Amino acid sequence: MTNRFFIRLTLEEDERQVLSPYACLSSQSKGRERTEQPCPLRTCFQHDRDRILHCKSFRRLKHKTQVFLSPEGDHYRTRLTHTLEVSQIARTISRSLRLNEDLTEAISLGHDLGHTPFGHAGERVLDQLLPQGFHHCRQSLRVVDVLEKDGRGLNLTHEVRDGILRHSKGRGPVRMLPGSRGSLEGQAVRLADIIAYVNHDLDDALRAGVVSRDQVPQDLLEVLGQSHSQRINCLIHDCLFASEISATGEIRLSDPLLAAITDLRDWLFQHVYQVASVHDDFAKAERLISELFAYFMSRPEIMPHYGAAPLSDESLETQVADFIAGMSDRYALRLYEELFLPRPWRSLVL
Ligand code: MG
Repeated sequence: MTNRFFIRLTLEEDERQVLSPYACLSSQSKGRERTEQPCPLRTCFQHDRDRILHCKSFRRLKHKTQVFLSPEGDHYRTRLTHTLEVSQIARTISRSLRLNEDLTEAISLGHDLGHTPFGHAGERVLDQLLPQGFHHCRQSLRVVDVLEKDGRGLNLTHEVRDGILRHSKGRGPVRMLPGSRGSLEGQAVRLADIIAYVNHDLDDALRAGVVSRDQVPQDLLEVLGQSHSQRINCLIHDCLFASEISATGEIRLSDPLLAAITDLRDWLFQHVYQVASVHDDFAKAERLISELFAYFMSRPEIMPHYGAAPLSDESLETQVADFIAGMSDRYALRLYEELFLPRPWRSLVL
């Protein structure tokens, strides 16, 4: 029988035997900011994955916007289901290429923890309001480094933190420049992120009736696939054949598929993300975030009453931004209502 105190050592040995020479081995991690006794049962990347899964910021993702603001329909994606889809795609890529699936999963589950309420609308407002700007990647790292566990952070490994910081591409190029790519596992998450969101945002836009099937460019569907599952399958297969696994390797798509997914993303910007029926409520959400920010800047002493961490030595702007960025859509809406809207007196006594 395996001695339970040696389970982690066995798992680390399994990694050495099975994984690619270019995978990140948990036994060779650069470690944590604060040294800890290793878990006897789990590798350090498995331990990080579990810490992220059990943290409060992860649970709040279920009420944060992906594309459609606070959707009431049960089948629309939220930031949580997006995260799970990214994780599944990235793990498939990682396992197929004999990379470290546990590291990939930990980065995937943590990559969007710093997203504000109301998606990129909230991010835009905080970016304008903070002297140092605001980006959800940096905030995701701040969540795991500092904000979780009442200011102590999750003390994750260097490799998970690095993958979280590098994941975003916004509207920029999907491919990264050599030298800035980071681990192959982190690259798998970055590519899985765009594969997931381009496909599920199209699926949700069709569900919402924002676009019809006939409007989607047929030439792109011919390259990528006619159905949601065909497109995901096609992109993952292409990634497995096009990626280069070496010391300076790259997780990538072939040129034709890269062009197709980039064109589909641009098409979504024009026909979904920026159309009035989807976008107009985000202008209202931006105003809501601005007003909450101004309110707490003038009354910071009441933030702890609403669950914000006690005042720290950070600038006041940063503390207010941390509090607001951590809110879910429904929490921000409810708080706005409580702070700014009058409540009817309910007594019916004559
Ligand atoms: Mg994402």
